[in-house]
Amino acid sequence: RKTIAMTDLRSYVRDIPDYPKPGILFRDITPLLADPQALTAAVDAMAEPFLDSDIDVVAAAEARGFIFGTPLAMRLNAGFVPIRKPGKLPFDLHSFAYQLEYGTDELQIHVDGIKPGQRVLIVDDLLATGGTVEACLRLLEKCEAKIVGCSFLIHLEALGGEARMEPYDVHSVLKYG
Ligand code: AMP
Repeated sequence: RKTIAMTDLRSYVRDIPDYPKPGILFRDITPLLADPQALTAAVDAMAEPFLDSDIDVVAAAEARGFIFGTPLAMRLNAGFVPIRKPGKLPFDLHSFAYQLEYGTDELQIHVDGIKPGQRVLIVDDLLATGGTVEACLRLLEKCEAKIVGCSFLIHLEALGGEARMEPYDVHSVLKYG
């Protein structure tokens, strides 16, 4: 079976102009997910900087964060904790509401999902404005987690999301200007 170099991984991301609305260039990862070697290469590259970081738990927000969060957790011998939209998690919750371009959104985590001091890696498919990951950071702080860093497949650097993540470390595999 072929192995995929990092430089080739980019060719599995499909650009869709004006989706979901005019002016947005959507980075569609479904071709990458559908290819066994590209999927493995992506998960390996997202995990690699954290192999020796003693991660206890990977936390990720639905829906696309879940796709990478679970295989990364398995690579890192860590557990997986879901961060979800309201109405999805059944037990006691921490919640964090945040601004969108129009209106607000909210994410939640189980209060006992992460024990104080546990070492956590946040995972998502893509860093854009950073609103989603910032909400995840605030939820993990409420859990008194030790946030080790964040790992993304794609970073859209022009949108400035990294600034919202200070002081935490940001790792990304594919960078778009
Ligand atoms: P943000 O909160 O702005 O950092 O964006 C968070 C989520 O929105 C990412 O995890 C992606 O799933 C999705 N997203 C935002 N912008 C794009 C884009 N240009 N292409 C594909 N997905 C995007």
